[in-house]
Amino acid sequence: MLHFLLTLQKFSLKKLLLSIAKTISEQYHLELTCDLKYAMFKELINWSLENYSNLPWRKNRSLYGTLISEIMLQQTTVPTVLNKFEKFLERFPNLESLANASDEELMIAWKGLGYYRRAKNLKIAADDILKKYQGKIPDNLDLLKQIKGIGEYTSNAIVAIGHNKRALSLDANLERVLCRIYSLPLKKGPNLKKELKEELTRLKIVDKLDKYPPRNLMEGLMDLGRTYCQANKVDCKNCPMNSDCKAYKIGNPLKYPKVVPKKKLFFGLDLLRVFVKKENKILMIKRRPGTWLEGQWEIPTFIIRTDDLRLNQYPFLGRKNLNIPNVFSFKTNITNYKINNFILNMTEKNFKKHFGLNGGFFDPKVGEQNFTTATLKALKFL
Ligand code: SF4
Repeated sequence: MLHFLLTLQKFSLKKLLLSIAKTISEQYHLELTCDLKYAMFKELINWSLENYSNLPWRKNRSLYGTLISEIMLQQTTVPTVLNKFEKFLERFPNLESLANASDEELMIAWKGLGYYRRAKNLKIAADDILKKYQGKIPDNLDLLKQIKGIGEYTSNAIVAIGHNKRALSLDANLERVLCRIYSLPLKKGPNLKKELKEELTRLKIVDKLDKYPPRNLMEGLMDLGRTYCQANKVDCKNCPMNSDCKAYKIGNPLKYPKVVPKKKLFFGLDLLRVFVKKENKILMIKRRPGTWLEGQWEIPTFIIRTDDLRLNQYPFLGRKNLNIPNVFSFKTNITNYKINNFILNMTEKNFKKHFGLNGGFFDPKVGEQNFTTATLKALKFL
């Protein structure tokens, strides 16, 4: 009997100890797993905070600053925006000053950032926020999307980065980086954003991303896409995500997202840029509404030759008896046109005889003026 009781006691004790050990191990394992999940983007976030917190739009944060920087950063590199952001904010420090800016002032402040339509959209958005929301930038995606001039990406960026609330601001950088980190075999193209969101939701990755402060995560991923994880170049060895990145483990990061080769059509275009001088001033013509660089001033420009016969951005030169140089002075690009720019000096009288005269005479050396970039380049040959 005694032997039986001792055996039973021993057995129960062993069972009890095993059960405690199992519980501890399970708990420990559970905690470890959660911690590891959390650690996945922790290194990225720390790296981003250490290296990029000094970007001017991050150092002195405001919702207005986020709106401006996010729109500037679309299609423009960080170094270019760095030169412009603070000056733009000095000139237009709040929504009111932006909404009241003349197109001329706005174009001058936007000079160098390209894609001028974004500046116009900013002004429209500022006006709409003042009228609809009394100057308060909403934290709600649906309300943001109703603001004129603000699209899907900017709405998400304002919620995630500006308000630090849940949202996924997916641009081409983030699409690429997320496809690589999770090795998602999606195709690059207009449907990628939608498909990526669906895939992130289906695989419950969105739930994991939700564990992180939205602002830090979005900015960390953006920094990654700009530095270690570029479209055609990766530096996985030094990347803060390399211990968790699936594409790196598989060994083929550049295959994500899949690129379907598409032939981009470029047109050749030869333009004649004419200097008509009067004392220290030169003739400028305002770009017509609906044309490239609408509203900016440009020296008179004519099409000498183009592969695109439907092009109607400038008048065709036709058969005029002019001494056009044999060699172009500088090259520019706009949309899908590769442009050779030829420069010709003409007297006012001769110009009037060939083309008539509309436009105005400006002193190009006085202050900042709303000249096109090509005109600024041409002025170097004056
Ligand atoms: S490890 Fe390589 S592929 Fe993965 S996120 Fe970093 S740079 Fe990109």
